[in-house]
Amino acid sequence: MTLDFAPRLIAWQQSHGRHDLPWQGTLDPYRIWLSEIMLQQTQVETVIPYYSRFLASFPDLATLAAAPDDSVMARWAGLGYYSRARNLHAAARRIAAEHGGRFPQQLDAILDLPGIGRSTAAAIAAFAFGQRGAILDGNAKRVLARVFGIDGWPGEKAVETRMWALAEALLPESDIRAYTQGLMDLGATLCARARPRCEACPFSDDCLANRQGRHGELPGARPKKSIPEKATAMLILLHGGEILLEKRPAPGIWGGLWSLPECPADADPARAAASLGYRAETADRCPAHIHTFTHFRLHIQPWLLPVERPLAAEEPGRLWLALADLNGAALPTPVRRILEAIRQA
Ligand code: SF4
Repeated sequence: MTLDFAPRLIAWQQSHGRHDLPWQGTLDPYRIWLSEIMLQQTQVETVIPYYSRFLASFPDLATLAAAPDDSVMARWAGLGYYSRARNLHAAARRIAAEHGGRFPQQLDAILDLPGIGRSTAAAIAAFAFGQRGAILDGNAKRVLARVFGIDGWPGEKAVETRMWALAEALLPESDIRAYTQGLMDLGATLCARARPRCEACPFSDDCLANRQGRHGELPGARPKKSIPEKATAMLILLHGGEILLEKRPAPGIWGGLWSLPECPADADPARAAASLGYRAETADRCPAHIHTFTHFRLHIQPWLLPVERPLAAEEPGRLWLALADLNGAALPTPVRRILEAIRQA
């Protein structure tokens, strides 16, 4: 099975895999890199419109490298995992400064760029330059765990090490593009997490998970641990149809995006507004929001506070944004929802 895994996967990809995704049919490393970064932890259908819009604004590496932070974050807003956008931008600047604006071809030079791990570097090198290297993204892990019956949670070091060794051993001598795409396609289209379509799979007769009916157990689940709950209050300081935003520090949650000022959930919102330099006669409690991050759940209590605007210029890192201009702003998703609700009220 190990020996003919690659030829079977390549043949299946060529006849049944995906060939029309917007980032296929190009050898431009910039476009391939962008797609690989956007596809991390994100479904293809979600990525497609963001990918097109991002390319419309930043059609090549030089344009991205020269772009201001805010316009890059605005194009990424809504896609989540914002460190990806910050790293992408930082990497574009590094390529401009250190590689003469040309995307590097050597695997270690690619791996050295911010935000690019081993699997992503190998995928870019395979698709853009036809270089032979193993990938081990979520789809590949699921397929390998099931076909070869690898127990344990792939996030655990020992399991991951075993998977990397297997992924390396399975690599074909040629057709690396179809092979790499095949692993991604099989995981995304047939070997889905729930209800895999084994009857259409090229490995249905040999796959250990299929033969032993262990689809639900493989790959092993992350050990359960309860996710912490956190709470915050957000202040919607409103004046003349505009609201006050603060730029979030990077690195950190929502780093580089514009968000509402916050105070502890149990603090007096009017007093918190006063500490920012604004006097509010009233503070109205708005509907609460819950936002779930990978590592914690955030309970957000927004407060609406009509305020007077000081005549002095705003401090750096703060701006007033018209509610009518929400669409173009780099806002975290829950903040956008909170403000949309205010705009429509
Ligand atoms: S046979 Fe089923 S479980 Fe095994 S790799 Fe194919 S789709 Fe996945």
